[in-house]
Amino acid sequence: MKITIAIDGYSSTGKSTVAKQLADWLEYIYVDTGAMYRAVTLYAMREGLISDGFFDKESLIKKLDEVEITFVKNSSTGKADVCLNGENVESYIRTLEVSSFVSPIATVSEVRAKLVEQQQRMGEAKGIVMDGRDIGTVVFPNAELKIFMTASAEERAKRRYNELLERGDAVTYESVLSNVIERDTIDTTREDSPLVKAADAIEIDNTETNVEDQFHTILQLAKD
Ligand code: C5P
Repeated sequence: MKITIAIDGYSSTGKSTVAKQLADWLEYIYVDTGAMYRAVTLYAMREGLISDGFFDKESLIKKLDEVEITFVKNSSTGKADVCLNGENVESYIRTLEVSSFVSPIATVSEVRAKLVEQQQRMGEAKGIVMDGRDIGTVVFPNAELKIFMTASAEERAKRRYNELLERGDAVTYESVLSNVIERDTIDTTREDSPLVKAADAIEIDNTETNVEDQFHTILQLAKD
């Protein structure tokens, strides 16, 4: 029987990597909901709705109907790339700039309502692995398997820093660490759907475990 697997947790805990591996192995659909919030953030940046560290919430809400988020399969990576109004924007959404605005934008209830509705529609097809911050609590409260991933902030920042360096981004470890901590704070304290562990989620701390071990642990849980 195909099930719904919800993977939530703090920033840069490696949710997407393990979620993608599970989906490939189980032949499930994989949805990276963080990419959807990042694409909305890129839209706001391009529309000039963000300046001096502030964003124009009312204008963003008014323009939300103009934002269409879709996914397209990338034949070289095998991953689903996120598209903003038909344009593949995968290579623009992982920058530290987008990362520094995405959590404030994700506090906007209208943004969340739009994306959650779309995510729930995607979940109508059984056999889905979705990762984010509110999947087990809001998007799929009845998911058969819920995982909550954690790791120390330093370890998470180290991983994200290495990823950004590999992409050729000029960042410092300190700036990545402060972004990781700031996003966690905003995500856990926002009014609408704060990041919390669902009561029935299984917590996995991966500070010292590798992706391979996490994959096998979750796969076993999915089979049980
Ligand atoms: O997963 P990722 O780090 O790409 O997510 C970027 C940001 O999007 C998070 O820090 C969080 O603020 C927001 N987000 C969210 N709800 C989700 C997924 C992501 O609020 N389901």
